Amino acid sequence: MTNVFLGIGGNLGDRRAIMREAVDRLRDVLDEIRVSSLYESEAWGVTDQPAFLNAVVRGTTERQPLELLDRIQAIEDAMGRVRTLRWGPRVIDIDILLYGQDIVDHERLQIPHPYLSQRSFVLRPLADLAAGLTLPDGSLVGELLTTVPQDGLRRVEDQRWAE
Ligand code: ATP
Ligand code: CA
Ligand code: CA
Repeated sequence: MTNVFLGIGGNLGDRRAIMREAVDRLRDVLDEIRVSSLYESEAWGVTDQPAFLNAVVRGTTERQPLELLDRIQAIEDAMGRVRTLRWGPRVIDIDILLYGQDIVDHERLQIPHPYLSQRSFVLRPLADLAAGLTLPDGSLVGELLTTVPQDGLRRVEDQRWAE
């Protein structure tokens, strides 16, 4: 049984309903799910697009990392994600942030997620669930959070948004 953290986000359509649907679908993939508060963030990378809603989902799984990736990509597809430009607008994006303390370097999968420590819209919800968590490189989530700018990030609802 491995503890995993997933980042979820989207900036098209009824964002809150879509985020709730994603959590519901993830209940078939992960056990013991907990969610962070819900955040709104200005787009990152490709900035000329609508603001995102973001959250982090924590759960446990017996699945191997690539099998987990297959399952979350199937959810993205089922929810109508169209794969266009990287960092472009999307109904739902589900990233594997952490898989226990494992490091994965595969052509389809890098864990920890490569931009984890640069993104406040990931670190802030991650810190809601696990501020004291140490990453495989020894860095502490709560400390990483103090190193990233948090302008453009706003908490919009507590963790009950997903109930
Ligand atoms: P970013 O990875 O910077 O957040 P993105 O989420 O927009 O960008 P996508 O287009 O959703 O990128 O995914 C591109 C590919 O990234 C996926 O097809 C997947 O194989 C790969 N990938 C690598 N590492 C991960 C990971 N940790 N979680 C999810 N996908 C990953
Ligand atoms: Ca992403
Ligand atoms: Ca992704």
